[in-house]
Amino acid sequence: MSREIPGPPLYCDVSLPVPLDQPFTYGMPETLRHRVQAGCRVLAPFGTRTLTGVVIRTHGNESQPSSTTRNILRLLDEDPVLDEELLRLGRWIAEYYCAPLGETFRAMTPLSGEIRRGRVYSLTKSGRDVARELHLGADEQAGGPQSDPVATALRMLDARPLSASYLKQKVANATVVLKSLEKKGLVETEDTTADRDPLRAAAVRLRIEFLGRPQEDTPDTPPKLTKPERELLSYLELHPGSHNVADLEAFVAKSSMAARSLARRRLVKLTVEPMAAAPEPIRAPHQLNPHQQAAYDQILAALHRKQFQTFLLQGVTGSGKTEIYLKAIEAALALGRSALMLVPEIGLTPAVAGQFYQRFPGRVAILHSAFHDTERAQEWRRIRSGEAAVVVATRSGVFAPVGNLGLIIVDEEHDQSYKQQETPRYHGRDVAVMRARNAQAVVVLGSATPSLESRYNAESGKYLRLDLPERIERRPMPKVELIDMRQEFRETRKQGTFSRALIDAVTARLDNGEQSMLLLNRRGFSSFVACRSCGERIECANCSVTLTYHRRDRRMLCHYCNYSERIPERCPKCDSEYIQFLGLGSERVEDELHGAFPKARIARLDRDAVSGKHDYETILSAFRHGEYDILVGTQMIAKGHDIPNVTLVGVVSADVGLSLPDFRAAERTFQLLTQAGGRAGRGETPGIVLIQTINPDHYAIRCAAAQDYQAFYNKEIEFRRTMTYPPFTALASVMVHGRDEEAAISRSAALGRLLQPAPEGVRVLGPAAAAMARIKNEYRYQMLLKAATRKRLNQILVELRRFAAAEKWNPTSLAIDVDPMTLL
Ligand code: ADP
Ligand code: ZN
Ligand code: ZN
Repeated sequence: MSREIPGPPLYCDVSLPVPLDQPFTYGMPETLRHRVQAGCRVLAPFGTRTLTGVVIRTHGNESQPSSTTRNILRLLDEDPVLDEELLRLGRWIAEYYCAPLGETFRAMTPLSGEIRRGRVYSLTKSGRDVARELHLGADEQAGGPQSDPVATALRMLDARPLSASYLKQKVANATVVLKSLEKKGLVETEDTTADRDPLRAAAVRLRIEFLGRPQEDTPDTPPKLTKPERELLSYLELHPGSHNVADLEAFVAKSSMAARSLARRRLVKLTVEPMAAAPEPIRAPHQLNPHQQAAYDQILAALHRKQFQTFLLQGVTGSGKTEIYLKAIEAALALGRSALMLVPEIGLTPAVAGQFYQRFPGRVAILHSAFHDTERAQEWRRIRSGEAAVVVATRSGVFAPVGNLGLIIVDEEHDQSYKQQETPRYHGRDVAVMRARNAQAVVVLGSATPSLESRYNAESGKYLRLDLPERIERRPMPKVELIDMRQEFRETRKQGTFSRALIDAVTARLDNGEQSMLLLNRRGFSSFVACRSCGERIECANCSVTLTYHRRDRRMLCHYCNYSERIPERCPKCDSEYIQFLGLGSERVEDELHGAFPKARIARLDRDAVSGKHDYETILSAFRHGEYDILVGTQMIAKGHDIPNVTLVGVVSADVGLSLPDFRAAERTFQLLTQAGGRAGRGETPGIVLIQTINPDHYAIRCAAAQDYQAFYNKEIEFRRTMTYPPFTALASVMVHGRDEEAAISRSAALGRLLQPAPEGVRVLGPAAAAMARIKNEYRYQMLLKAATRKRLNQILVELRRFAAAEKWNPTSLAIDVDPMTLL
């Protein structure tokens, strides 16, 4: 009897980043059959396109795919980028968050940028003006086939920045058109991967080393080097050793760009190196105080048990949570296991990174979403090889290829930036817990102001709570005072920005050489521009939100789509000339401070101040070194910073955000005020916090002033229970959006009808126009689903998606957000 010898697998199933929720089967060319494994990325033909996908399994001839099966084109990884554990995590995310698997895998693999890099075009200010005029005249000729490519490009770019490759598909003669627009100063370009995030924060320095000259006789002749590449290579050859890429700009024009392309061709080596804000003195680890020790002991015991366990480390601001993290990581390493620590987007400063590099020299990798692909790729490889066993990362770092994971820390677990706002809409904290569970690892969620969900999980015994009830060295919590701005007005008859008490407090700090921080969580100069005659508020052309006046740019700006326009001289509605600027923003606070304290040295920290050379870390570090007396800013100043000389925190208005139509408004306000107050008095001198408000009786504000998390939790959890909001329900937002308002309405109505009468175990709210009914020219209709169980919620959502697919809706028009962080 002859037995068939099993040959190599002939086919592979590939998950592609397309909204269709299924893997696709491809054949494998002979040369690849032995090399393709599950978790490797491949290039595959899809329709007329070529896509990068992840292989989820290979198989032989047992299930014969149809004769039209196409072959994969290329294998991109010799070793899987996603191991079994991460593939499993990806499947969980796709299911739980109702996201297509291929798109989930793509979000999990950091190196896709290596394949798809490109330029992004956006409009300059004058470009926006020209585009705006086009919009006005757009109606009669909208999108006609013979419409002018220049106008088309401008209109498209007015909605949002676009990649060169996209524009090339949509605009005739795009290369020429874009070039001429750039010449006229109407558009600007940027490298997609560079400086995407203004908070890139000089957190690292990029070092470069010469490796070799290109070989002339390779089979696929390499493209010729550009002039900057040639010059850079010569310079490096003549100056052996490692150089700081940024410094080379002085010798070779465009050297950063050249450095990256040379690195891709393996002619130079780039290494990421931390850049401490100031050379940090080598510090011995702190001796833990009794509270810290008690918390640490529990974590240590769990690490030894090698079992999954989630801790909620609830420690007031300044209680020394970081030291516990560091000790716990040490313990994990000593047990031969690795550790992953997640920090919020802007929490990963050089000062933070520096502590880790110092404590675990040579073993730390940093992953920040703002890093260049080369940097990320390099760190990613160090992690996978096991060289770096300590990973400090922002949200997507939860997918880092850490082997033998023993410990995951999520610092500031309540922070909103852990939630991804595009498909897959996962929550980094919750994915971390799931990953730890699969890996039998220990999780520590840390915060002074835990999310209601996490604290509830601790109450119900799902998590174990560890408390740090006091500050290090028994430093007092800051003294907090509420200032009722209605009372202030009654007494002074003036609608001032600063109360008398705040002015006095700042004056005293200036006299004593101490520092102050002033928080106003709203960017810009005036939050809206209105007509005094008819009351018209000027709204964005693309969104149903008011424009914010930014004085530095002398323009009104939309914070949702970046649309901007000049201040009108007359009301666009009634033609009156009484244009009024209302609503206070951080830019104006800075301005008024200069007026009130002409001699004070004042800096501002918000998204607008942080760009170009004045970046985040520069401002913060100058403030830390005493170069400024007062730091004004948005929530950016509230987070995590440890600046000992700050003895006053002033909240200019605690009311911003409190009245938003969102069930988390109170929680957010409480967290922001508590965190901001926590910046005061972290050094030897005690601190005070002054909170100006017109809602002094609101519980979020009262509890923050009393620094009483427990009281806030008790009140808020009752509200959530009564209103059936999380954690008492499984919540999802189902948003239909599109440029055509009628279509958006009828589609959301169709979804609504599907759920009528409401299926068992589910409550349906809406559909109705979303609180922001139009964003970026898309109309938004929303439905909220509240389900008794996760399982039920998931079943319903899957049904809705099936319906949308069967109706052939453009898949991006249905946005499902499970566990939404915001309902706006
Ligand atoms: P949190 O993150 O809880 O707000 P930090 O971790 O920033 O607090 O700690 C506050 C300060 O106390 C830091 O300067 C830290 O170096 C210091 N610190 C932490 N633990 C100890 C300790 N056991 N003894 C002395 N100082 C400590
Ligand atoms: Zn008017
Ligand atoms: Zn807008």
